[in-house]
Amino acid sequence: MSRRTVAEPRAPLLSLDEALARLSAGAHAHRLTQTEDVSTFDALGRVLALEVRSLLDVPPADNTSMDGYALRAADVAVAGARLPVSQRIPAGVVGQPLQPGTAARIFTGAQVPPGADAVVMQEQCEAVVGDGLGAVQVNVVPAAGQWVRRRGEDVSRGDIVLRAGARLTPQALGLAASVGAATLTVLRRPRVAVFSTGDELVMPGEPLKPGAIYNSNRFMLRGLLQAAGCEVLDLGIVPDRLDATREALRRAAEGSDLILTSGGVSVGEEDHLRPAVLAEGELDLWQIAMKPGKPLAFGRVGQALFMGLPGNPVSSFVTFLLAVAPVLRVLQGAEGSGPAPLALRANFDWPRPDRRREFLRVRLNAAGGLDLFPNQSSGVLTSTVWADGLVDNPASQAIARGDTVRFLPLDSLITR
Ligand code: AMP
Ligand code: MG
Repeated sequence: MSRRTVAEPRAPLLSLDEALARLSAGAHAHRLTQTEDVSTFDALGRVLALEVRSLLDVPPADNTSMDGYALRAADVAVAGARLPVSQRIPAGVVGQPLQPGTAARIFTGAQVPPGADAVVMQEQCEAVVGDGLGAVQVNVVPAAGQWVRRRGEDVSRGDIVLRAGARLTPQALGLAASVGAATLTVLRRPRVAVFSTGDELVMPGEPLKPGAIYNSNRFMLRGLLQAAGCEVLDLGIVPDRLDATREALRRAAEGSDLILTSGGVSVGEEDHLRPAVLAEGELDLWQIAMKPGKPLAFGRVGQALFMGLPGNPVSSFVTFLLAVAPVLRVLQGAEGSGPAPLALRANFDWPRPDRRREFLRVRLNAAGGLDLFPNQSSGVLTSTVWADGLVDNPASQAIARGDTVRFLPLDSLITR
């Protein structure tokens, strides 16, 4: 990051990939190292700092996946053979070794007793009343191994089941619990301070005076940060004044990993972020060749990284997904570089593409194609709620109905 003078006329035009490479390089030095041990119960969305290695086989013993009878397959040479029932084994109970020539009544999840090598489901058997537990008539010829879930077929002792850097999804928590992990070592959450700039902004609940609009970015960005597992320090709305902006930056920098702002990053007279960040720290201001989006500020105030997003709500949203989320991933040392695009068919025409790379709001239709939201303007937030994802369209490339395009699902952009 270089210190630039206020007199410099224009921010450099950068490709998104170039910007991402610079962001990632800048964020690298700020990677989080502090860890904490949290209960597996409370670890949803956190990023693992230490791998999870299994100290046991899962399942820990051979067990049945059916209600039925455990037996030796070799004891049933013909359909209709009868075997005395020598024991009853519900789930959670450990049976006795199976006497040759007998069967054990057994229930799903129970360990298959030593000596048995197959389970016949109860629908293929008839119980025969008699002394003790009676007998069973087996109406099929079983194959050795059938309906037996093998010890260790899911996880072997010593396996790494979750890697450091993995984000803990609900299913990852389930897997961690299945190997007996009661606590997990995770990175501390990134601390992100957020404020919106703009004298026109008022909060929902306040009257909308002439000239005002409601502050939507404050809610959207806070939600995106929370969904990404961050601790959010919300500093509200900062007036369009240099001194107020500088003051807000100083407060935001205290104890934060990242300061995130919306609005005020253009080079207009009312855009005070650039001079404010330059006065308090370091700043690069970029024009990114993407639409929506374009202005993006990246820098540092104190120990905190700084990212300034454009004020237009859709631009803020898309820039968050494509530029801030990757920075948060770098801070958290997470694996992967975000979701890979899917190749899907456009169910729309886009005859007049922009000269910048575009991210169009689209929705998956029942035929597996993509429909386009009719208004792609950067102020139209309804498009972001309607959409399932973004089409990543190369600069100057027209789309005709039936073309294959690159689709980025919103879900994976938000939570990866
Ligand atoms: P700016 O980047 O400050 O020039 O703002 C660009 C556009 O986004 C203007 O129309 C602003 O009114 C609008 N805008 C800026 N911040 C917000 C916000 N927090 N919520 C909704 N709209 C905003
Ligand atoms: Mg503004």
